Amino acid sequence: MTVLIVEDERTLARELGIFLYQQGLACTVARTAREARAQLADSPFDFVLLDLGLPDGDGMALLAEAKQQELAAAVIILTARGAVEDRIRGLELGADDYLAKPFSLPELLARMHAITRRRFGLHKPRVAVGAFELDVQARRVLFGDQEVPLSVKEFDVLSYLVLHKNRVLTRLQLTEHIWGNLPESGFDSNYIDAHIKNLRKKLGQHADVEWLETVRGIGYRVRG
Ligand code: CA
Repeated sequence: MTVLIVEDERTLARELGIFLYQQGLACTVARTAREARAQLADSPFDFVLLDLGLPDGDGMALLAEAKQQELAAAVIILTARGAVEDRIRGLELGADDYLAKPFSLPELLARMHAITRRRFGLHKPRVAVGAFELDVQARRVLFGDQEVPLSVKEFDVLSYLVLHKNRVLTRLQLTEHIWGNLPESGFDSNYIDAHIKNLRKKLGQHADVEWLETVRGIGYRVRG
């Protein structure tokens, strides 16, 4: 999952980025409305965390504009303004949720998980893929009652493909969704191939993994 953090307070932006990265989310930070516009035009995000008071404009206007351009990302408004009118206006403009500052990071994460489940129709916390089950909340892959031990990044690659079932995702898309542009620069797209290879090896010890397809010259797809 990728997150665009639109926040001009450096300390908060950094704190959010580090926390979400530790949870396996890839973060990009924009400190102005202008930077946010450029980022949104440039790459698709799963989440936008949007501060309302930006140095060069109002986050609300940015939201209205982005929604007009059919922004697909889920939006959570983060703001010191607790006013009911702001909250209502934000939700009317298409924000998915609203958190008044200061908020706790685990609460933010819980709200993000709830939105993900809603958006992807994951009302059941477990999603079947081949002979396996993905427990999205607990971040585990199960074969029957047995857990298949995966690394954090392997789980990220797999769950991202599963959430976009039947769609071909390029190595670049997977890379951006898993690493983002915050930490670990100097990324090599061979990492994705290595993770897929490990996934096939680990899952393949239990059952066939033909549903995890390589699309030659493009990337990968989970068929289901
Ligand atoms: Ca601000």
